[in-house]
Amino acid sequence: MMTDMFGQIRLKVNLHLHTTESDGRKTPEEASAIYREAGYDIIAVTDHWKYRESGAIGGLRILSGAEYNAGGGNGAEGVFHILALGCSREPRIHREAGPQAIIDEINGCGGMAVLAHPAWSLNTVEQTKGLEGIGATEIYNTVSDAGESSRPYSGDFVDASACRGRLYPLIADDDTHYYNGEDETSSYIMLACSPEASDAELLEAIRRKAFYATQGPEIHLLREGNRIAVRCTPAVRISFFSNAVWARDRCVRGSNLTESSCEVQSFETFIRAEVTDADGKKAWSNTIDLRQ
Ligand SMILES: [Zn+2]
Ligand SMILES: [Zn+2]
Repeated sequence: MMTDMFGQIRLKVNLHLHTTESDGRKTPEEASAIYREAGYDIIAVTDHWKYRESGAIGGLRILSGAEYNAGGGNGAEGVFHILALGCSREPRIHREAGPQAIIDEINGCGGMAVLAHPAWSLNTVEQTKGLEGIGATEIYNTVSDAGESSRPYSGDFVDASACRGRLYPLIADDDTHYYNGEDETSSYIMLACSPEASDAELLEAIRRKAFYATQGPEIHLLREGNRIAVRCTPAVRISFFSNAVWARDRCVRGSNLTESSCEVQSFETFIRAEVTDADGKKAWSNTIDLRQ
C-alpha cells in the first residue's frame, strides 16, 4: 500500500503469474512469499487452465484467476491468451473453445477477461475487433522480455485498437514463470482502491481505469480542456501517444523531469502517456477518451 503524490491510497497488484500448478517454477506458497516480501497487496495466481479461487496464501490476498488460451503457436492463425480475473466460480471452458466463448464464460462468472500479451501473441486489430467483452489488455508483461522471449511491449496494438475506438484499461504485470531475477516483482499496477474492497469492487476500479501501470515510476495523466498534462516522479523521458502520428510537444527528454504537457487537436480521439526513469524503468498511464 502506498500514498501517491496526490494523497490517494494505492494498492500494489500483480494480476498475472504462474506457479508449479502449471509451468511456473515456484509453488503458490513460494510465489506468494516472494510478492508479499516485495510489498505487494494483492496477486492473482493465473495458472494455465487451472483456476485458483480468491482467498489468501501466507497472508497475501489472492484474487481468483486462471489463464485460458485458444489457437496454437502460429500467430498467423490467431493466438489468444485470456486471463480470467475475479470470477466468483470456476469458469467451465472447453479446450476447443474459441476466444469469444472463453470471454463470455469469464464474464458469466462475474469476472474480467483480460487479453494477455497481445504483442507476444502477434494479435492484430483485425483479429480482435469482433471480440466483445474484453475488460482490459496488457500493455506490458515482464516475462515476454525474459528467457527466450523478446516481445513484451503491446503499445502498438493498444494504439491501433484505440484508433478503432477500443480504449481498454492498460495493465502491466509480470506473467511470472522463472523467478530467477528476470521476471518476478517487476511490472504491476497501482490501484486506487480501499484495501477492504471486495473482488467486485477491485474489478470495478480496474474498469474505471483507477490505476496506473508501472515498474516503479509514478505517472498521472490529467486533462484540462484541450491541454493534457503528465505529472510523474523524476524521469528522463515523458512521451504522449495518440492517433496523431506526429504532433508538437509529444516527447521530452532530459533529467529530473516531473511534468510535461501538450495541446490536443480536434481530430485526436485518445491520448495516453509513458515515462522512463534514469534506471530505465517505465510507467504507463491509462488512455483518456478525447471523444467525450
Ligand atoms: Zn499467456
Ligand atoms: Zn501467463
